[in-house]
Amino acid sequence: MGFWWRPLGELMALAFAAALFGLAAGVHAGLGLLGLGLLILLVRQFWFQARLARWLEEGTLAESLGAAPRALGVWGDIYYRLNKLLSRQSRSNTELANALGQFQQAAEAVPDGLVILDENDRIQWCNPASNRYLGLDCRRDHGQYISYLMRQAPFLDFLRERDYSRRLVCRSPLSRETALSMQLVPYGAQKLLMVRDITDLERVDAMRRDFIANVSHEMRTPLTVVGGFVETLADAQDMKAEDMRPYLQLMQSHTQRMQRLIEDLLMLSRLESTDHERVEERVPVPALVHELEGEAGQLSRGRHRISARIESGAWLSGSSQEIHSAFSNLVSNAVRYTPAGGSITLTWKEEGGEGVFAVTDSGEGIAPEHLPRLTERFYRVDRSRSRETGGTGLGLAIVKHVLTRHGARLDIQSIVGRGSTFAAIFPAERLLTATQEDNVIPFPAERSDAA
Ligand code: ADP
Repeated sequence: MGFWWRPLGELMALAFAAALFGLAAGVHAGLGLLGLGLLILLVRQFWFQARLARWLEEGTLAESLGAAPRALGVWGDIYYRLNKLLSRQSRSNTELANALGQFQQAAEAVPDGLVILDENDRIQWCNPASNRYLGLDCRRDHGQYISYLMRQAPFLDFLRERDYSRRLVCRSPLSRETALSMQLVPYGAQKLLMVRDITDLERVDAMRRDFIANVSHEMRTPLTVVGGFVETLADAQDMKAEDMRPYLQLMQSHTQRMQRLIEDLLMLSRLESTDHERVEERVPVPALVHELEGEAGQLSRGRHRISARIESGAWLSGSSQEIHSAFSNLVSNAVRYTPAGGSITLTWKEEGGEGVFAVTDSGEGIAPEHLPRLTERFYRVDRSRSRETGGTGLGLAIVKHVLTRHGARLDIQSIVGRGSTFAAIFPAERLLTATQEDNVIPFPAERSDAA
């Protein structure tokens, strides 16, 4: 309503001025002034209308902003209001563009491949991950039928079926190594194709299957043997105790093998379990090396020359049970894979600030192609040799887990026919100096239990 006051005010002022002028200078002069005034108002009206049209026509909205023509009176009001409207619109456009930009950035950053398809399965948009998994390019392939670009039969069937509850598991068209899981999600008339890389999941699944197959296989052999002997003994009622002894001894050795396997499996599962907290104890490594030297002597039963070189008095911080188990696995391997007459040396030293426990043997050695896989569960270079010597195939897997839990690493150097050195290398921060209260074993020390 305020809007009308200004033009009405102007007209009334003009009529009033014309009436006054008419009274003073005559009716004609008054009418003349009124006509002139109306003409001026009309021309001014056209002038501002033309300026408004030009302003709206010129440039983009953003450019016009702030450059609104200035005017007095009602046109000033119109320009002011238009300007306000335009700046509000421009602000909301910027906000909208920002929100859209952020949404697009988020969709582009998603590690899964995302492809928007229209009702005819033409590509509307896709993110960079879809380029990685499917080779699609958002700009190049916009508007293309996805079935022209991805021609694998299982994918075409999946697209045609329109079963939105189903997931398609297939290989990436770019690499047979990459396993993908795809799902279609409908929304409105469009569909979102979601592509996820499940290579790692498949690998873990395959490992799990292999593990179960391996464990079953390892258990079946001794169980079959023991079962067979039990049957034989049950049938042979009048067998003498002496004749039974070899059977019983074999049954005992197979039962022990199963026991070792179960103990190793339990140890591995304890090490792998995230709830299993590692204890931080002071581990007296020099004393431990002496103890292991004794254990090696018992295992070897005089068949090898065994010596210990303790060149450092440092202790370790960690779980003494785990460290004992890892070191003892390395020692038992050296005894088991070194033919009689060979030598085995246990060393504890500091090198470049790190603590090194090394077991060197003059055994059969390992070919280089096996080295990277030795710490895998049940990986053996020679299956029958490992079993003959009572191996479970889990020893080095346990060693690797224990070392990883202590921030240490395993280094293996080996030459076929000459022997191997397995070294557990602990970082400087794990090394402790023995204190007065500790019952320290003097070093340097070198002892040898000759055969
Ligand atoms: P196993 O119970 O079979 O000994 P491990 O995990 O301890 O299992 O070792 C894996 C494989 O590594 C063994 O089967 C053997 O082939 C090889 N190996 C381990 N230590 C030695 C060694 N000191 N000398 C030669 N080969 C070894």
